Amino acid sequence: MTNEPVFQNSCGTCIACCYALEFHAEDGYNKKAGDMCQHCTGTGCGAYETRYKLCHLFNCAWRGLPQLGEEWRPDKSGVMMLEVVGDELPEICRASGVGLEFLILTDESAIERPGFAEYIATLVSRRVAVFLGLPGRPKTVINQFLEDHVAAKDISGLTKMLVHIYKLHLEAKRLGFDVPERAP
Ligand code: SF4
Ligand code: SF4
Repeated sequence: MTNEPVFQNSCGTCIACCYALEFHAEDGYNKKAGDMCQHCTGTGCGAYETRYKLCHLFNCAWRGLPQLGEEWRPDKSGVMMLEVVGDELPEICRASGVGLEFLILTDESAIERPGFAEYIATLVSRRVAVFLGLPGRPKTVINQFLEDHVAAKDISGLTKMLVHIYKLHLEAKRLGFDVPERAP
């Protein structure tokens, strides 16, 4: 018998978290987010039986979202989703209990992919906190920049705004700054 949660979506050959997660000495390994794990074979784990505790414990949010098909698997979509809870949620979104961070692993094509902006629009309309981030960088809540596009059902404008925010994150990374919490 196991107490491990059952997920509808399977990892398969995805190795996105082996790249995106940060490991610290207490995890038994030191690695920055955005560096590939030393044990990754390219299609799986070369040390599966003895993999780190963090690897046992971690599940990205996609695994528990069966309404998002295989095309949303992080290595295919270029986006890893992470649950955000508690004090990190903005006051106005606390009623939903959980927010979602969209960690962009590849480039803006991950944002322009069909279905991405539509899903973000659904979350924003339900007052679920939406965060954007890059591996190893601070995430920012972005609902406030998207609400007008969502209200107008303007998916094209919403996509452009998402790409714009993503580029701000890239620029902030290049300059070594945090992304400012104001209208872009
Ligand atoms: S990123 Fe998600 S789907 Fe991919 S290996 Fe990690 S937990 Fe599995
Ligand atoms: S030990 Fe294996 S599962 Fe864990 S990050 Fe490294 S390659 Fe991935």
